[in-house]
Amino acid sequence: MAGSPARGALDQARGAKKRFGQNFLHDAGVLTAIADAPGLRPDDAVVEIGPGRGALTEQLLQRVERITAIELDRDLHPVLEKRFGDRLTLVAADVLSVDFAQLAEAAGRPLRIVGNLPYNISSPILFHLFPLADRFQDQLFMLQREVVERMVAVQGEAAYGRLSVMLQARYAMELRLEVPPEAFVPAPKVWSAVVQMWPLPASALQVQCWTTFQEVVAQAFSMRRKMIRNTLAPFAAHMDLEALGLLPTLRPEDVPVQAYIDLSNQIRARRMTSLASR
Ligand code: SAM
Repeated sequence: MAGSPARGALDQARGAKKRFGQNFLHDAGVLTAIADAPGLRPDDAVVEIGPGRGALTEQLLQRVERITAIELDRDLHPVLEKRFGDRLTLVAADVLSVDFAQLAEAAGRPLRIVGNLPYNISSPILFHLFPLADRFQDQLFMLQREVVERMVAVQGEAAYGRLSVMLQARYAMELRLEVPPEAFVPAPKVWSAVVQMWPLPASALQVQCWTTFQEVVAQAFSMRRKMIRNTLAPFAAHMDLEALGLLPTLRPEDVPVQAYIDLSNQIRARRMTSLASR
């Protein structure tokens, strides 16, 4: 078996650390498809999250001149340094502590973020990047397929929820590729999918206060089966559903993203008015 693809996969699986969400991509077709998806140009400022042993990094470096990569597992750094030399700038840190504004500042242009993300912290990563989205040209991520389905779901679909509403108010998104477990070593239990996310331009952003928006959306989906007049009762003093054309008997999954934006703007405005009149 020496030198066979099966042996190669076994070698890669050995030493993979579960606590770091290490499932390494080894399917050449999938790696090429991911690297091709964003249409990279040689001078793009690419930041890769979790390069692992460099399977995707290698593909990306065939398309761009340099990459900055953030990898928490220090055992992998010598492998990456040896493989890519000074074409790779390694950031030895937890991605959740990395200042992406500073990276964008240093690059002098919007970043293109790419990564086969550690699935155990994929939502925290999405929300770490969220407030900085205006510094990014796009984000291309491999995630659990079920998570991508929730991100892109529209009103009325079973997967539509808090993640869909929050992200769709800030990004345009597209599911680019579905990936079976066998494409990784070790193979995860679930299918994966690649999603591309484009931050909406400032002129298209309508949320006036992201804190209020987040509060309203979280509250609405805290009890999925209940009607919004009940779940949103904590906002009653500053809310008029009918003025927005929303039936109080709707369930949270029947309310479109635009209506959540209008509602949070209404609540925010009325709160400001009542504060001002005190
Ligand atoms: N890109 C590689 C590939 O496709 O084969 C590896 C992907 S693996 C799913 C996720 C990678 O993220 C691992 O290399 C892991 O060590 C790294 N990682 C896990 N948690 C991290 C964190 N908090 N910050 C930065 N990297 C992290």
